[in-house]
Amino acid sequence: MAYDRNNVFARILRGEIPCSKVHEDEHTLAFKDINPQAPVHIVLIPKGEYVSADDFAATAGEAELAAFWRAVGRIAREQGIADSGYRILANHGAAAHQEVPHFHLHIFGGRDLGAMLPRR
Ligand code: 5GP
Repeated sequence: MAYDRNNVFARILRGEIPCSKVHEDEHTLAFKDINPQAPVHIVLIPKGEYVSADDFAATAGEAELAAFWRAVGRIAREQGIADSGYRILANHGAAAHQEVPHFHLHIFGGRDLGAMLPRR
């Protein structure tokens, strides 16, 4: 799947759409989700053009991979959820209902998050 430069997170990266930024470094940007599912709900994205988790895992460089995981820990600590507990989640593709085709990780916290997935 080709990267769509008009996806909403690409537009946030270009400053065309505002966001509530909580973290930025050379390789990553993180901001509050516009439709939060928990008291803390942060979206972390790489600045590079990666469509999905699969694309990022397969093709990102070492510095980008390292920066991304360092950012997860830093954001969780800064948001005050490292001790109480948090959940990280990435939706990849149709079965996971990925809406935005720019790889992103959700970071949830600030309440008891319940079971890992709803039972069906
Ligand atoms: P996905 O289902 O792709 O994993 O999640 C996409 C997430 O992006 C959703 O949680 C949605 O609320 C969030 N989102 C969509 N558009 C915007 C936006 O313009 N700004 C922000 N901050 N979040 C957005």
